[in-house]
Amino acid sequence: MKIFVINCGSSSLKYKLFDMRDEDVLAEGIIERIGIENSFLQYETKEGTDIKIEHEIPTHKEGIELLIETLLSDEHGVLKDMDEIKAVGHRVAHGGEKFAHSTLIDDEVMKKIEDISDLAPLHNPANLMGIEVCKELMSETSQVAVFDTAFHQTMPEEAYTYALPYEYYEKYGVRRYGFHGTSHGYVARRAAEMMDKDFEDLKIVTCHLGNGASIAAVKNGQSVDTSMGFTPLEGLVMGTRCGDIDPAIIPFIMDKEDMTTSEIDGVLNKESGLYGVSGVSSDMRDIEEAADNGNNQARVALDIFNYRVKKYIGSYSAAMGRIDAVVFTAGIGENAIETREEILSGLEYMGIELDKEANDCRGKEQIISTSDSRVKAIVIPTNEELVIAKDTEEILGRY
Ligand code: AMP
Repeated sequence: MKIFVINCGSSSLKYKLFDMRDEDVLAEGIIERIGIENSFLQYETKEGTDIKIEHEIPTHKEGIELLIETLLSDEHGVLKDMDEIKAVGHRVAHGGEKFAHSTLIDDEVMKKIEDISDLAPLHNPANLMGIEVCKELMSETSQVAVFDTAFHQTMPEEAYTYALPYEYYEKYGVRRYGFHGTSHGYVARRAAEMMDKDFEDLKIVTCHLGNGASIAAVKNGQSVDTSMGFTPLEGLVMGTRCGDIDPAIIPFIMDKEDMTTSEIDGVLNKESGLYGVSGVSSDMRDIEEAADNGNNQARVALDIFNYRVKKYIGSYSAAMGRIDAVVFTAGIGENAIETREEILSGLEYMGIELDKEANDCRGKEQIISTSDSRVKAIVIPTNEELVIAKDTEEILGRY
């Protein structure tokens, strides 16, 4: 069975075409600069094609049409007929409280995704646009929505309710939702497999440390807490996002700097985090290099990044009563050896013993704790597109 996975943004669209028999990626790439000049389609295949097609792409529809043409082309194609694709799995940013699982898309589901759009104004409308275009161009093909928030819908009230006037939750849905759910769910399940234990018997802390970063407490197979909240701004220090701060800082800085709400929103989301503190870059590799070369602000940025993750691991251990594993994933989690070492150092009292030699690895599945460490530390590359494809296949099997 062939499944197409689409992650549609406002001016870009990432795609992966899977053959689910052996989970092979037949084609993958990105359409960039939709509606902007110099738009193009990047297209790679399993057979070794790697091309950039520069083409005017005024809307998502023209982009997907160009992609379909390329997938079917004599020269670079991997399909004879679009009917070979049994379903399209769409990444949808926000499912609010309406979606705790992936779902087959019909008109009612589309209406609900639209209703939630004010919770994710940058993402849900773009995701919906991708769905609409695929429905139009592949009218006979099933469409499935996989939500970034769904895995965290099992959080208990005390974890998701903010101590604000309750009416804001009732009127506007102001509560914690959490994100990166597809990734947290995947690596937690995979950790249980690697430990040869039942997922339902384990207490796992999953650290998704990428440009966006979040951490989750997964107890007996369910997310019971996570660091991102109403939006992906809360929690860990990220590439350009501040994570947890005292909310009183916001009106204070707005007053001092004479800022509007959208200006302060820009500062918190795009000018803070590793970038804001280091003044160097939002990219962990640049910051590591600057810190190695004696840049103090870069050193501080690294230290607060690591310290925040460590604090969350401790708090999730308290929340779950014990932990059996800590999992690292995403760009930093999979590759930053020193970061993992710094985060885990001092956690020996919790039963985590790092194996420094095993930790000397990047981008591959590996247990990095010693064999007699009570709590396992594990590196697991995330694969969100594959999870979306698997969910889509599973949902299709039900109908
Ligand atoms: P992601 O958002 O998951 O693509 O992760 C991006 C982040 O991973 C960036 O901060 C990168 O600097 C970081 N990253 C990627 N490779 C490495 C590496 N070898 N060492 C340290 N950080 C890395």
